[in-house]
Amino acid sequence: MVSRVIPVDPFDLVIFGGTGDLARRKILPGLYRRMAAGQMPDTARIIGAARGEIDDSGYRQMVRDAIQTFIPKDAIDAKTLDSFLERLGYVQIDAKGDGGWSDLKAKMRSGMVHAFYFSVAPSLFGTLAERLHKFDMAGPDARIVVEKPFGHDLESARALNDSLAAHFDETQIYRIDHYLGKETVQNLMAVRFGNVLFEPLWNGQYVDHIQITVAETVGVGGRGAYYDRSGAMRDMVQNHLMQLLCLIAMEPPSRFDPDAVRDEKLKVIRALTPVEPHHLVRGQYDVSGTEPSYRDDAENPRSRTESFIALKTHIANWRWAGVPFYLRTGKKLRARTSEIAVIFKPTPHSIFGEASSAHRNILSIRLQPNEGIEMFVTIKEPGPGGMRLVDVPLDMSFAEALGPDGEDVPDAYERLIMDVIRGNQTLFMRGDEVEAAWAWTDPIIAGWETRGDVPKTYDAGSNGPEDALMLLHRDNRRWREIRG
Ligand code: NAD
Repeated sequence: MVSRVIPVDPFDLVIFGGTGDLARRKILPGLYRRMAAGQMPDTARIIGAARGEIDDSGYRQMVRDAIQTFIPKDAIDAKTLDSFLERLGYVQIDAKGDGGWSDLKAKMRSGMVHAFYFSVAPSLFGTLAERLHKFDMAGPDARIVVEKPFGHDLESARALNDSLAAHFDETQIYRIDHYLGKETVQNLMAVRFGNVLFEPLWNGQYVDHIQITVAETVGVGGRGAYYDRSGAMRDMVQNHLMQLLCLIAMEPPSRFDPDAVRDEKLKVIRALTPVEPHHLVRGQYDVSGTEPSYRDDAENPRSRTESFIALKTHIANWRWAGVPFYLRTGKKLRARTSEIAVIFKPTPHSIFGEASSAHRNILSIRLQPNEGIEMFVTIKEPGPGGMRLVDVPLDMSFAEALGPDGEDVPDAYERLIMDVIRGNQTLFMRGDEVEAAWAWTDPIIAGWETRGDVPKTYDAGSNGPEDALMLLHRDNRRWREIRG
């Protein structure tokens, strides 16, 4: 299969926080890979802007080190790397003061896309937007890219949105959720809306329930202090799991166009039902061997922040009436895996004498590891012994199906940065989506705070607290296995 990489338009990309962890680990290596793939025009330029006192050549050396650290050696071509580094420049800037801004303005070329990546703490977003405006860089060609967290609750999210909206139109604001940049997530839309097979079954008449799992094996590690003010609900459910839920549950948009898609996602969030206290399980990982407990990691021996959450919710509309959506995410679990599973109802009657509920069609959309989509169908177990049934996957693994080119699937960050340059907002969250997600999340958090709920402990390397298993057992269902 021939790869079709279409170069984007020429651009100046400024990375505020260009010396930080996110820039070195994700953004710059991603840009290098896009250049190696032939997607970056010769005239593209990248400017790091941060507090550090370094010059252009110091910055290039730093980026060289980052690329050599975060990209496997055999995927780096020396000539391409040199040519990539030539496009880099650096400006020392103070987001809170006026120092460096005129230098930055002088480096920007006219007649091309200007993208500003805010890879800094969210407390600086408002002041960056304000200064871009003050120094005349917030024109119609400008785009700003921001990373989560988009607020801590509805009130702070509104304040953040307002501070950006004071100087930029919503069409210029790109809120990154890297889950949306994953190949499988986009394929979910292709599978749903590009085939006649699925849509007729995509409702409460045929779907029994939906599970969304994002399991990590790592703990909060060095991010303990930050995480302890956040927790799994704010850090994962309000954004990543919510976005996945929207894509699986939304009505077909009339076009594959940013606002048509985001309008449908917003309707889903607004239709989510409140979560009953007995449909919510919060957990904290315990000590395991020499590994610290959550409270050790968070350096707060009394912390009530959850490193695990499982919940059941519904979407109050015709399509999904009566269909539970079970969401779970946590740290230090058995395996690292992200999966959306659509579990269909059993056949109404089994002609084979087995309990008809013994077999189900399941559509499993795996984000990691081994991105791909599997459809489990029931067939006859091969060989003698009569009609014994077995569920096997019809595998739609992209790497295999698409041949060698399919293996070079761009990383989520790379794809999203290129979408910013193209001006395509489809895979970015709109401000009203973020606020609606907080409007659903806030009362759930307020509820457990008022009740004074203490998270249940769970063993590191397990499936989470026992109560999470019970959440489904009570409904005669069970979680999909957490497998790597
Ligand atoms: P970091 O602390 O490693 O880097 C911060 C950068 O901001 C540095 O380049 C620093 O020079 C610059 N900076 C700080 N104050 C400044 C000021 N007053 N003026 C100009 N520059 C200033 O942080 P990070 O881990 O790279 O994270 C950046 C943002 O991305 C944060 O909002 C974080 O929540 C978010 N984020 C990070 C990750 C990640 O993997 N690191 C993942 C998701 C989201």
